[in-house]
Amino acid sequence: MLLDKSIKELSEGLKKRDFSSEEIVLECFENIEKHNKEINAFITVIEKKEAIKQAKDKDKKLSDDINPLYGLPFVLKDSYLTSGILTTSASKVLGNHIGQYNATVYQKLLDAGGILIGKMNMDAWGHGGSSENTDFDPVKNPWNTNRVAGGSSGGPAAAIACRMAVFAIGEDTGGSIRNPSAWCNIAGLKVTYGRVSRYGCIAYASSFDTVGPMAKTVEDCAYVLKTIAGHDVLDATSSSRPVPDYVKEANKNLPLTVIGLPKEFFREGLDEEIKKSIGEAVKVFQSLGLKIKEISMPMLEMSIPVYYLIGPSETSSNLARYDGVRYGNTRDNFTRETMRRIMLGTYALSAGYYDAYYKKAQAVRTLLIKEYEKALNECDVLLMPVNPTPPPKIGELISDPVKNLLADIFTTSQNPVGVPSLALPCGFTNSGLPIGMQIVGKMYSEALLLQLGHHFQKKIDWHTRKPNL
Ligand code: GLN
Repeated sequence: MLLDKSIKELSEGLKKRDFSSEEIVLECFENIEKHNKEINAFITVIEKKEAIKQAKDKDKKLSDDINPLYGLPFVLKDSYLTSGILTTSASKVLGNHIGQYNATVYQKLLDAGGILIGKMNMDAWGHGGSSENTDFDPVKNPWNTNRVAGGSSGGPAAAIACRMAVFAIGEDTGGSIRNPSAWCNIAGLKVTYGRVSRYGCIAYASSFDTVGPMAKTVEDCAYVLKTIAGHDVLDATSSSRPVPDYVKEANKNLPLTVIGLPKEFFREGLDEEIKKSIGEAVKVFQSLGLKIKEISMPMLEMSIPVYYLIGPSETSSNLARYDGVRYGNTRDNFTRETMRRIMLGTYALSAGYYDAYYKKAQAVRTLLIKEYEKALNECDVLLMPVNPTPPPKIGELISDPVKNLLADIFTTSQNPVGVPSLALPCGFTNSGLPIGMQIVGKMYSEALLLQLGHHFQKKIDWHTRKPNL
């Protein structure tokens, strides 16, 4: 199957004319036709005729100096604006919203020669970790369709696992790239805040939101990041730091690296099989010559309260433009989960409660930043679980808001701090469900994270397994 190949193999194959972009695109559509009915990963599938027309055009114009993403089909989480194409953020509030302009990340991929084939299902507005909080029915996990795919970028993750596209762009505010990547056995990178432009990405919590790649392998993520990272005049929070050649960096020999294990994250509450798999991954890192150090980060306990005060506060402000209350509408078009967040945020920001909740949360956020700075001075990177459990059954999380919130324990501390984190597969449960881990680094250390992940993937084969659909 062409879709089993890496970006590097696909790009080289295209250049040698071993196969065509048209054949790759056709294979995506075959897989979409076979599996999407059950998995429900897409909100919009681009018309096949249109995608094929584009692929044929790419095949015709193929040259030796193409971007590695040239001629490759990709998908976007439905939170990215795409001119002339429906963008819903998985909410019926935007049920017929046609984008007026392109998100920067999308434009960069088009400029590189990529071919958009779909806009993906997700938790509405990014609110959730299971892709059940959607007005377009839940995304099912390709490894077991009674279970959730994770969220909020569940559609992109499931599509990559099912080989319906070569790579995807997700969005991570508190785990939304990492959580579904781990539950669907793919790689996903939450970048440093500001590394990739957010222009044209429908905002959830503007000071946490990040745009990042999701793909079968870590090296594939490096290829995508190289294309999408960099300063954008349209996003004042995007960084003007030079963009390294992430692929080249990922392939360099590993430097002596100290990996920290925050002991607070390996205690009760973490599923035993996940703990064991990360233990095995630690041994792989040791065999690569890396040092392991147990550390303590007591402030991590504050991640959920900090995240779930600031996140809803920012979203209550961001979503105010969509509710139409000023024009006599009600908020009934939002889901219960989203309404809960709007209410919580409005409350935390209101006079009388602002100091007690929002301001306090921002002060604790600063302590969390200091905690990460200290830990990342003692070690080069941190290794952590992504999810406390394997993917739950459909209905379990959405019916229990507190459980839903606590499931984010390992992925919500990095966004308030801004640091990057790479999620990648590290094993399977006895019942055959994927297990992932995350490597967290200093600000702008994406190159090191990708390097560690890529070398890890040369030693194991978890990422090569695919669901038996
Ligand atoms: N699960 C988290 C939440 O519900 C993270 C979502 C995200 O990263 N967009 O807010």
